[in-house]
Amino acid sequence: MVQGAVNQNTKLTEEWLQNYVDEWVSFFRKYTKNGEVASYIPILQKANKNHLGISIIGNEGMTIQSGDVHVPFTIQSISKVFTFIVACMERGVSYVLNRVDVEPTGEAFNSIMHLEIRQLRKPFNPFVNAGAITVASLLKGKTSEEKLEPLFQLFEDILGYRPRLNMDVFESEKETSVRNRAIGYYLVEMGYLESELELTLETYFKQCSIEISIHDLARLGMILANDGEDPQTEIEIIPRQVARLAKSLMLTCGMYDASGKFAAYVGIPAKSGVSGGIVAVAPPRSRNEDLPFLEGCGIGVYGPALDKQGNSIAGIRLLRHIATKWDLSIF
Ligand code: GLN
Repeated sequence: MVQGAVNQNTKLTEEWLQNYVDEWVSFFRKYTKNGEVASYIPILQKANKNHLGISIIGNEGMTIQSGDVHVPFTIQSISKVFTFIVACMERGVSYVLNRVDVEPTGEAFNSIMHLEIRQLRKPFNPFVNAGAITVASLLKGKTSEEKLEPLFQLFEDILGYRPRLNMDVFESEKETSVRNRAIGYYLVEMGYLESELELTLETYFKQCSIEISIHDLARLGMILANDGEDPQTEIEIIPRQVARLAKSLMLTCGMYDASGKFAAYVGIPAKSGVSGGIVAVAPPRSRNEDLPFLEGCGIGVYGPALDKQGNSIAGIRLLRHIATKWDLSIF
């Protein structure tokens, strides 16, 4: 088993932590061979299934990166956290929560079953596709560009640059989107969508096709760890109430139908996407011990080999290990 427990005698230097993270990434990389890259969006199959990388950014600025840190990938379902945030900022929290619930489903992210069987008044939560497509319909604007402008602006405010849209991924998903269309038509039938279906789906596919890096994910996570405020500038980028709501949803619904296990064994809010990214949020914690990142940190992970639920198979193990060693759990 890998080493690396932190004890009181340890100096928590960047170099010291870096060595452990390097060791852990090489240890957990072997699990990538047990997973498969997503294939239902054909272009995602081109990903290298052996890749595994992590970036950790502390609220005080310390940064640890290891493994395949320079591979760009599309944000996919992780975008659902941020369109939900933008919708809440544009429309108000109660408006959004009147149209999408906050309950975990225990079903696959693209399941349609609950919508029909339970005859709900609104989709289960904003992180399953039915809820995310509904949220995309709530974004203001007459074109997908207009609807997504505040999302790009939010990313620019947090990342310091405007991420690009990967049009090849967008086209690939759009061409093969039968299930999301089925969900979409059902949402239309139920009267859940507030913008026309084609526009809503185009917006949803585009938000999923935004290209980012694990460093970006770590920064997004760090801002959430700090309740929406940039700790360096002290500027509030996301209202505190919205950031906290997003984190609760990440904890209960962020890892698809593995959310319960992730909350139990890792214990931090996180959101995954089918391209293999995970953003995880370790809020500041009060412990009377010498532990890394007590001030809170954001973690970005990338490992495109997925498990059956669609989560990065090695990424989840790596996160669980780090959370255990460093006692990152919020509980
Ligand atoms: N674009 C993907 C889809 O809708 C996102 C899903 C995911 O990352 N889980 O199928």
